[in-house]
Amino acid sequence: MSYGEIIENSAQRLQDLTRKGSMVVGYLYPHTPIELLMAHGLTPSLIRVNPSVVAGFEDSLQTFSCAFTRNIFSQRANGNLLSLSGVLFPGNTCDALQNVADVWRFRFPGDKILRVTYPATALTEHAVDFLANEFRFLSDNIAKMFDRQISATELADAASIVNDFREAMQFLYAARVYDSNAITYSELVSLLRKFLTAPDRSVVDEIAERFREIRQVLEKNGHLNSADILKDGLLIGNLEKVVTPPSNEFPRIVVVGGMVEPQAIASIVNNLDGVSDNIIALDLLSFGFKTVFTPKTLIPPANKGTKPIGAAPEPSYEGPFKAMARAVLQAPLEPTQEGLTTRTEFLKQLLTKIGVQGLVVCEQSFCDPDEFEAPSLEKAAEKAGIPSLRFPIDPELSDRGRLEGRLQTFLETIGEV
Ligand code: SF4
Repeated sequence: MSYGEIIENSAQRLQDLTRKGSMVVGYLYPHTPIELLMAHGLTPSLIRVNPSVVAGFEDSLQTFSCAFTRNIFSQRANGNLLSLSGVLFPGNTCDALQNVADVWRFRFPGDKILRVTYPATALTEHAVDFLANEFRFLSDNIAKMFDRQISATELADAASIVNDFREAMQFLYAARVYDSNAITYSELVSLLRKFLTAPDRSVVDEIAERFREIRQVLEKNGHLNSADILKDGLLIGNLEKVVTPPSNEFPRIVVVGGMVEPQAIASIVNNLDGVSDNIIALDLLSFGFKTVFTPKTLIPPANKGTKPIGAAPEPSYEGPFKAMARAVLQAPLEPTQEGLTTRTEFLKQLLTKIGVQGLVVCEQSFCDPDEFEAPSLEKAAEKAGIPSLRFPIDPELSDRGRLEGRLQTFLETIGEV
């Protein structure tokens, strides 16, 4: 399925859900507590960029707005996001997202706008408490705005769906490092997209089916234990026990960056001469790895969740807002948060351990966090002895021919190493 068809499919799925009476709330930041929205009876849907939307100029936005926010805002201005009942914006992540939320509220006063402010720090108890309070306000605002009360049972069910999704996807990500033929990168990110477009148990069952099949494949070729170790190591950011995969006949790369669409990367790679997306060992993108590798939200299971929200938690569990906040803050750090040294150290360790030949550093056009971070990522690759390529990209793939040429040349170069 082409990138365009995948986008069309996602839009169709949302329209079908809306037609059947679902209330869909769009969100833009990968670390949104989607289980909380589901517990209010809403369908959370990640708003993705659309390459067919012309977003070069949008005079409502500030000059510093990035290509990502321009594309999303233009989709709304063109009437493409009308199936959404509301939009949830993050606060305190980057100037461009802060600005687009303010302008959106002003330009489309009839839209229901929610906002969660994130602490710009690494994991501390203060940060967990702050974010837990934000989630509590969010829950109150959803109840008022949409007249949908939170249900403890639905929250436990939603957390179980999201946790099962993360568990299976984390394994599939790790499995590809040892056997990238077991599941193509395109299939991996299309499963991810399906869930993030409209998360429910049926999509998790589909992912779980592939999870079981691929575990069998890896068991047969002797890599199952290594993949499990890598999955656990990636989740806690410690790769000491990771076993380096056997060398491959083709060069393999890691793709790193922020709010870049994994399917756009897959589509560019698959368009190159003599190359397929099995050269991508791993992505470290916001809408890929960084979404998937979020720890479980530890909420009591549904059959124990008869207490109302706000009641004292059982001894082994925190309250639900705190549990969601802790899971979000334990996720691999975003460029919009502090912790650059930790991220670059992790990258250096990763490149050395998983035996790849190149690093592609994606930069969303006009994204300040990406531009700030990219030189440090290149330096980490240099220290690990891995060549890197800076890869500026925009949602419309307006420079696609040149991007493909640069990537092809880079791959040919590292193929000779
Ligand atoms: S992090 Fe970068 S790409 Fe994402 S909204 Fe902010 S400026 Fe844009």
